[in-house]
Amino acid sequence: MDKKYVFAFEENKSTPETIMLLGNKGAQLAEMSHAGIPVPPGFTVTTEACNEYYEIGKKWPETLEEQVKEKLEELEKKMDKKLGAGENPLFVSVRSGSYVSMPGMMDTVLNLGMNDKSVESFAKAGGNERASWDSYRRFVQMYGDVVMGVEHAAFEKVLSTKKQEKDVKNDTELTTDDLKDVVEKFKKLIVNEKGEEFPQDPWKQLTQSIDAVFGSWNNTRAIKYRRINQLKNDAGTGVNVQAMVFGNMGDDSATGVGFTRNPATGEKTPYGEWLINAQGEDVVAGIRTPRPLSELKEVMPSVYEQLINYVDTLEKHYKEIQDYEFTVENGKLYILQTRNGKRTGLAAVKIAIDMVSEGLIDEKTAVTRVKPAQLDSLLHKQIDESSKSEDKVIAKGLPASPGAAVGHVVFTAEEAAEKNSDDYPVILVRKETSPEDIEGMDAAEGVLTSTGGMTSHAAVVMRGMGKSCVAGAGEIIINGKTKEFQVDDKTVKEGDLITLDGSTGEVFLGEMPTVDPEISGDFKTLMSWADNYRTIGVRTNADTPKDAQIALDFGAEGIGLTRTEHMFFEGERIKAVREMILAEDIEGRQKALDKLLPMQRKDFEGIFEVMTGKPVIIRLLDPPLHEFLPKTKKDMQGLADDLNVDISKIKELKDSLHEFNPMLGFRGCRLGVIYPEINKMQIKAIFEAALAVNESGKEALPEIEVPLVGNVNEFLAIKKIVDDVVKEMEIGDKVKYKVGTMIEVPRAALTIDEIVKEADFISFGTNDLTQMALGFSRDDAGKFIPKYIEEGIFKADPFQTIDQEGVGSLMKICVDKARSVKKDIDIGICGEHGGEPESVKFCYRIGLSNVSCSPYRVAIARLSAAQAAIEKE
Ligand code: PEP
Ligand code: MG
Repeated sequence: MDKKYVFAFEENKSTPETIMLLGNKGAQLAEMSHAGIPVPPGFTVTTEACNEYYEIGKKWPETLEEQVKEKLEELEKKMDKKLGAGENPLFVSVRSGSYVSMPGMMDTVLNLGMNDKSVESFAKAGGNERASWDSYRRFVQMYGDVVMGVEHAAFEKVLSTKKQEKDVKNDTELTTDDLKDVVEKFKKLIVNEKGEEFPQDPWKQLTQSIDAVFGSWNNTRAIKYRRINQLKNDAGTGVNVQAMVFGNMGDDSATGVGFTRNPATGEKTPYGEWLINAQGEDVVAGIRTPRPLSELKEVMPSVYEQLINYVDTLEKHYKEIQDYEFTVENGKLYILQTRNGKRTGLAAVKIAIDMVSEGLIDEKTAVTRVKPAQLDSLLHKQIDESSKSEDKVIAKGLPASPGAAVGHVVFTAEEAAEKNSDDYPVILVRKETSPEDIEGMDAAEGVLTSTGGMTSHAAVVMRGMGKSCVAGAGEIIINGKTKEFQVDDKTVKEGDLITLDGSTGEVFLGEMPTVDPEISGDFKTLMSWADNYRTIGVRTNADTPKDAQIALDFGAEGIGLTRTEHMFFEGERIKAVREMILAEDIEGRQKALDKLLPMQRKDFEGIFEVMTGKPVIIRLLDPPLHEFLPKTKKDMQGLADDLNVDISKIKELKDSLHEFNPMLGFRGCRLGVIYPEINKMQIKAIFEAALAVNESGKEALPEIEVPLVGNVNEFLAIKKIVDDVVKEMEIGDKVKYKVGTMIEVPRAALTIDEIVKEADFISFGTNDLTQMALGFSRDDAGKFIPKYIEEGIFKADPFQTIDQEGVGSLMKICVDKARSVKKDIDIGICGEHGGEPESVKFCYRIGLSNVSCSPYRVAIARLSAAQAAIEKE
């Protein structure tokens, strides 16, 4: 039998397989058509057809045309109408839909089947000539833009000229004759621009629209969106052809969108926006300001009641918050689509907890319902409430996506993408945003718009990204030319600092103080459920008692990495460090090290105190020594003066320490092998600190870690220094300590059986391991990795998420070998990957004992680890 490319909605249900095959929208239309929901009928062209279309050079697979024809005939029979016919015409919508929704990124054509004849018969049948011409006008415009490639702005120009001519503000004020004239002008515009007539033949309209939707899978913004959201590039889009119902048939018609719960806060109240006498695009386009759903209750009470019942059924059916679209045609309600609603981190947590109390889902499911990365928004700063006062608020809009954002104002997405940096965070200020702005929105700290509702593009996209957004702040008047915006008598210029509170919708002039988040309430409950399923440990990378405390508050169970080099830069210490580097002999070096020891001891004491009773990995000095030398001439002179030597001596030494490839040079344990006294000072400081802390009644559990080992003999050389100090200080069993190593050099991973015979623990330093396994400098790869991802050479940045096939294989070999020698040895990870959800899951799967990450990612790692365990079940 020929491959089936086209399915009527009712031929399927929603399953993981049909979601891939039909796209999510198609699968949910299929599911709804079985659940007693009033869905207009239709059919779906599969994602497989789209993929084959690309494989064979943008042509339809052989039997596709035949199959579409067949399903169209079935649909015509069901509706007892004929597509675009002069008598009793059927109209359809043609919508894209991939396995996950990509809002606004791909193309849609509505009102397909409209032509010079069907517009007339539709007017007669519906008794609404104006609505009919309005639909035709929209169709010619959409088709001209999406299918034929005429600029959207050119159509808008024709329309606004007409409005000016008639001295009206809104499209709804144009008469039938006005619309007829606009249609004529649109058709002329198409011929002028494309040298081709707008097609009257409905079959041609349909096939070309399906073609356009296939084509939109690979438009620039869709590709960018997939890259940013790490979606599959080869999934393809489904095409949903569905009988049209019209929300623009007069005052007993309407269209809207809604969520079964509030997607920003998670509250269980019907939530949505609608417009009377309008088509779907009007609600989300931000041109007319939509009305809240509560007003539908007043205007169309029985429709409202039905709507709430249906969507409630849908939510119970899916056991998930639903994001739906509806249309009322002459008083009759239709649900056009539904999908699981995108929500903020805050809402995701609340909904998961509430659904457990409502008996819809169990605790385990709740743990899987929050994407670990979404917690990021809960872990972001909020504006310090005590610093707020009415007079600081310059405008108020809708609280579209929570969290505080402080940044410099920019007015275009390009500028946002170009200018944003850690030192110069930006806030993108726009009338409204569109899918073209995606890159700038991704770069910006926050977005402020002057029009649009809670379902506007800006709101939806920023919520998805977990970033702050204030939408529809109507009081601000933006002047793109002068690059400023006005609110009352205030002018805010490009570059000025503003602060957004995406949780309240407030906009402040200047930088407002922010406070760090904490784990409490629903968040705390969810994390405690997660811990019930998690089997691997979560530690933190922290170099100060303050960071250690933050991590502890987020649930860290120890420290997986203390980098000691940061401590060498502080205040007076850098002088002693430089004195040590410049010393000509061991005595000189020892003198400088003696000055450093008490300072190091104090550092460690502080950390052990905070982490009492919990393991603390302290890594011995790692970076090449020249990193500690002054860089500018002025600083070199300062150092020469301090040490009472000539500047030429400093320069000479700097030159002698110069390395062509410092990351592969004289660093890590290599320093300790050549200058054992440096490590000795650090080890002494660790034990002295541990003794002092133990004496105070707390418990220090130091784990001494040797960096950059590649050969067991390197490890043994450093371990001997530890043993000597232990003997010298008569540590005995006064301190419980361990000695282990990082796995950063591929050779160490491959010879781990030798190393673990000697080591008490090992920890993957995946930053260096990735650098060395891939041969990509971690400091330079940023220049080409984005292009690699764009070109599909890499799926993701290997410095952010573990390259599972490459570096991951090396890790797996290492873990298996290590465990075959010492079954229960502690194996951790402390590279950046230790807090990245997919990498954490991978670490769990290959059998690591714990992961370690920055304090703010501890909760993310806890949740990821729990989900990994649940997924395995
Ligand atoms: C690593 O290489 O992964 C690591 C944790 O060490 P650093 O980033 O300090 O080199
Ligand atoms: Mg390293």
